[in-house]
Amino acid sequence: MTVSIRSFTKRRPGIVFIVSAPSGAGKTTLTRKVLSIYPEMSLSVSCTTRTPRDGETPGKDYDFVSEAVFKRMLAAGDFAEWAEVHGKLYGTPRRMLERRLRGGGDVLLDIDVQGARQIRRHYTSAVSIFVLPPSLDELRRRLAGRGTDARKTIDQRWNNARHEIQEIQGYDYFIINRDVDEAVKQLAAVIAAERLKVCRYTQKPR
Ligand code: 5GP
Repeated sequence: MTVSIRSFTKRRPGIVFIVSAPSGAGKTTLTRKVLSIYPEMSLSVSCTTRTPRDGETPGKDYDFVSEAVFKRMLAAGDFAEWAEVHGKLYGTPRRMLERRLRGGGDVLLDIDVQGARQIRRHYTSAVSIFVLPPSLDELRRRLAGRGTDARKTIDQRWNNARHEIQEIQGYDYFIINRDVDEAVKQLAAVIAAERLKVCRYTQKPR
């Protein structure tokens, strides 16, 4: 294919950015801050069967659905990926994701390691980033300090974290969330660099 400067001023296909982290690593704060740097980027709103936490808004943080509704959507192929996390079901609505990507929009997926595996399989140019806490002790302190979850839930999440961290080997980038501003800078840098890859402009869209 022949390229010209014009090739790089055209719109390119949207990029899927996967951000995963053990619960309590500070991923929500991180993704919110990065989205304020790149307001043209959108955050995918997942469906979940878990109940809303205080301060969460249905339709904005999640679409909170019953297990029956989730399973119906799953059977209909409505999810680009889905997983059971901490005993609840979570899924990324496929139609919304495809629509945004076709329109050239970049989409950030805040999903767990199982979902990341499925997305990487289907969206081969997706970029995956794993956010680590500075240590497991610090993670436990953060989980307990949130005050939104029962002791049993904290134990379950902390134990899951130890397994989830092993999955980092399938990811493209890692960020240690010691200082949130520094972590935001690093995530923003990954996004900026990935957007400037030549292949994103010279390869045929999927
Ligand atoms: P939380 O219940 O604390 O909001 O999220 C728990 C975990 O589920 C987090 O690791 C989050 O990234 C993950 N999660 C949220 N939405 C989805 C989704 O649509 N798919 C998958 N696979 N994981 C999700």
